[in-house]
Amino acid sequence: MSDPFDFRARAHRFAVMGNPVAHSRSPCIHRRFARQFDLDIDYRRIQVERGGFAQAVSHFAARDGAGLNITLPFKVEAWRLCGTPGNTLTARAAQAQAVNTVSFERGAMRGDNTDGVGMIRDLEDNRGWEIAGRRALLLGAGGAARGVAWALLERRPALLAIANRNYGKARELAASLRGDGGDGGGDGGDGGGGGDGGGGIPITACGLADLDGDFDLLINATSAGIDDTVPAIDAACIGSGCVAYDLMYADAPTAFMRWATAHGAVDAGDGLGMLVEQAAESFHLWHRRRPATAPVLRALRAGQT
Ligand code: NAP
Repeated sequence: MSDPFDFRARAHRFAVMGNPVAHSRSPCIHRRFARQFDLDIDYRRIQVERGGFAQAVSHFAARDGAGLNITLPFKVEAWRLCGTPGNTLTARAAQAQAVNTVSFERGAMRGDNTDGVGMIRDLEDNRGWEIAGRRALLLGAGGAARGVAWALLERRPALLAIANRNYGKARELAASLRGDGGDGGGDGGDGGGGGDGGGGIPITACGLADLDGDFDLLINATSAGIDDTVPAIDAACIGSGCVAYDLMYADAPTAFMRWATAHGAVDAGDGLGMLVEQAAESFHLWHRRRPATAPVLRALRAGQT
């Protein structure tokens, strides 16, 4: 069997690390980007055993690795590693407390998080969905939700509500976005007004069952869709003219997209465009070139690998 760490053939060495990683479309996306600039890159998948992440990264660095994408379940571990002395974190990675892109320069690692900007580009540029001034609901408070919440706030929605199955995690995320670090108190939610640290934007948190009011923009950052299910929320949260976005993607509309349109959402989309856009941002960090994403997204939608 070939050694996945043997990169001798080419100068530009990249990989995505995760577990499982066999399904990852990142090698296909990055090779398509590289072809746009006649770059000869070696981008592969590296399956890493739990507990073996730090060793795998140092192995990769020792073999002249130039850049890594990190996927489940190692984004938080990558954030910790890049936060150790001698290495650096970008502001957006520090805020998200998760790293999905690592650059290696002169023996040091720089950890970044491109998920947030990837989602915003897909919403605004690819779909033409306005975020500014809209009432946004973020479902979930895991790694992906943390990555996108900061980027959402930067687009200045009218308000941001965070609802999660585990209310404590939603409350922590809201507190960190508000910059108050407090625990908000109570068991059900702080939806009575929340607070703002996001430059005057109200940020609230609640459990799924305590969700109140209706919204213009729904973002599903939970992994409920893996089981073809939808977070247990009241469809009354879908306001008139509401659009719904699922970070998950699949060949057919996801359970969340089907649920949202069945309950009145005027448009619904999946996260394949986010995947391509976050990859484009990683590509730009590594190669200082901005690839065209539309043809790559079209190819993926057409099932081309
Ligand atoms: P994670 O850290 O494991 O967090 C999972 C989140 O989903 C938690 O908030 C969890 O709630 C919630 N959840 C899980 N099952 C649920 C259910 N049945 N009902 C309601 N909530 C449920 O995972 P993650 O990294 O944030 O990823 C979340 C999703 O985003 C995944 O589907 C992933 O594929 C997708 N994603 C897509 C992209 C992209 O580029 N398109 C990038 C990153 C992630 P509790 O806290 O209560 O457990």
